[in-house]
Amino acid sequence: MNFSIGCDHAGPAYKSTIIEHLKERGFSVKNCGTDSTESVDYPDFAHAVANDVSLKDSELGILICGSANGVAMTANKHSEVRAAIAWTPELAHLAKTHNDANVICIPARFVSEQDAVDIVDAFVDSKFEGGRHATRVGKIACGVLTLLLCVSSAFSSLSQTNQKDTPLKETVFLKTQPSIGQYGYGQMMDSTKLRAHLSIIASDEFEGRETGTRGAELTALYLEDYYSKLGFEPYDGKSYTQDVPMLNSQIQGGVMKVAGQELNIVDGFLVYPGINETSMKDIPMVFAGYGASNNNEYDDYAKIDVKGKCVVVLQGDIRNLDSEGAKSSTSKRERVESLGAAAFIVVMPNSDYNTFKGRMKFYITRKSTVLNRTKEGEGASIPTFFVREDAADVWFETSKKIKKIEKIKKKGEKKGVVTTGDLPCTFNYNIDINRTEFNGKNVLAYLPGTDKDLKEEVVVITSHYDHIGIIDGEVNNGADDDGSGTVTVMELARVFMKAYKNGDGPRRSVLFMNVVGEEKGLLGSEWYSDHPVFPLENTVANLNIDMIGRVDEAHSDDENYIYLIGSDKLSSELHEISESANSSFTNIALDYTFNAPDDPNRFYYRSDHYNFAKHNIPVIFYFSGVHEDYHAPGDDVEKIMFTKMTNVGRLAFHTAWELLNRDEKIIVDKVNDFKD
Ligand SMILES: [Zn+2]
Repeated sequence: MNFSIGCDHAGPAYKSTIIEHLKERGFSVKNCGTDSTESVDYPDFAHAVANDVSLKDSELGILICGSANGVAMTANKHSEVRAAIAWTPELAHLAKTHNDANVICIPARFVSEQDAVDIVDAFVDSKFEGGRHATRVGKIACGVLTLLLCVSSAFSSLSQTNQKDTPLKETVFLKTQPSIGQYGYGQMMDSTKLRAHLSIIASDEFEGRETGTRGAELTALYLEDYYSKLGFEPYDGKSYTQDVPMLNSQIQGGVMKVAGQELNIVDGFLVYPGINETSMKDIPMVFAGYGASNNNEYDDYAKIDVKGKCVVVLQGDIRNLDSEGAKSSTSKRERVESLGAAAFIVVMPNSDYNTFKGRMKFYITRKSTVLNRTKEGEGASIPTFFVREDAADVWFETSKKIKKIEKIKKKGEKKGVVTTGDLPCTFNYNIDINRTEFNGKNVLAYLPGTDKDLKEEVVVITSHYDHIGIIDGEVNNGADDDGSGTVTVMELARVFMKAYKNGDGPRRSVLFMNVVGEEKGLLGSEWYSDHPVFPLENTVANLNIDMIGRVDEAHSDDENYIYLIGSDKLSSELHEISESANSSFTNIALDYTFNAPDDPNRFYYRSDHYNFAKHNIPVIFYFSGVHEDYHAPGDDVEKIMFTKMTNVGRLAFHTAWELLNRDEKIIVDKVNDFKD
């Protein structure tokens, strides 16, 4: 920490004592004078100190004169300076914790030198509490600014009815008044508006906003209407939404028939629930050993033709237990797929099958929502099944060449040889699936940049508006998850639009996007990043806000914190911008617990920002952690901490403002260090 200190002729002795004390504590101190007891004019020294603090050359200022009034009055003429008079340590403490004072003024005629040192210590060691105090400090501003804020909001409500008549692009900006500035706009983030919107979208009428239900559709309409009223133009000239093709499916039952043996789904065989083909009949079968190869030593596909056939393989590879192919059934499947097989079956030891069944049962039988990739001819992998060894042994009995699995394994282990070849039986199955196709909607509000050289670059600010809907008759309102992020993005859009209309629009473009399908597996953001409306190579960063309205167990005694995840993973500049936005404007305790490379929660992969990060776009994920109402009916508006939310919204605002207005686009200079 560094200080500037000054005084008039009443204070040189106090000043030297304080300087010595601060230096002993390891701080650096700039002495702005006076150092003599000859009569001087206090403003000369008060301006010097206030100037340092205002320009952020010094973090804190200390001023001393007889009554402290004159130096305080002078210092407070400087923007960004909040000078407080303190004649006890307690007053100094309060000036800092409640009023965020950055200059302390000490009345030399009323305190001893030791008192003065105690006052300085109390000032230095206290921390601004933020929260409701941040709101109040924000309202101090200066007279002209406050007037401007009032006038501009009154003006905007008066002109609301005119909005439709004056489309955005034709609006002429009259810049006759001084600019409100970054700080002033940040202060416009309004907790009452956040509460008003959240009370609507997290009400029972919105039915928990589950993707593919009326509640989600209603939310999308609410958002579209809001952005249109704010004056946003449709991003493509027609619409505020991007269609996200989706598929609801639920497996009702299934049977597999081979060599007279009938197996039922789950108990007899397992399948990935995304399966496209619901039945096959009389498909020729071939046994491909372990379906593995090892450089030039062996290749289980060397002597067989798999084209159009159902390929059966054993799990792993007894000849080479550590090989990549042996460990992963996925890479085995990719191999047979490339060879033109029709279906793929992995035979598992009975005990492995039972463990796998325990894990898969829930996924196989539940209703699932996936991106409808077939719409664009993508993602139709061949049907893949898992069966037990004792079931496969029945099939192998039909062949003279292929022995029982126990014998196959022994021979492979001893001689390194595995027999492969056609099976005389055929493959049949039928799976009963309920399927419905529908379009989810991402909602987009696009504000074009004002600088012709930078407007092609875009910052994307996201939240997901979907939640988990009605479960067992109870509405999960998702006020925190992610109602909190959704209304914060709405409010950010309002404030940036206000700046735009005042002629202070950001130089780069900004896209506010509320995505759908997050709870189904980050589907809306995945679709956007696969079908970006604005090229990903021009996308500067993604700020993603998901759950910022509550506290978790680790912070139950202090709401003024936020977890930041990802800020330093790809761009050191992004991290610096975020840190400095916070220290300059919001003063929130930034918690990087979940950003640690070995953190087991892996939140970096668990919300929508990941679909940007995987394309090497720097991201910040704002998140206040999980709580007892996470994904439960108790996640309600009453429990939301709006002051906290507003403050986090301001942090996102100031970070975005810098990203949007700085000369150079931030650069990607790092490789994500999360462990695989
Ligand atoms: Zn969420």
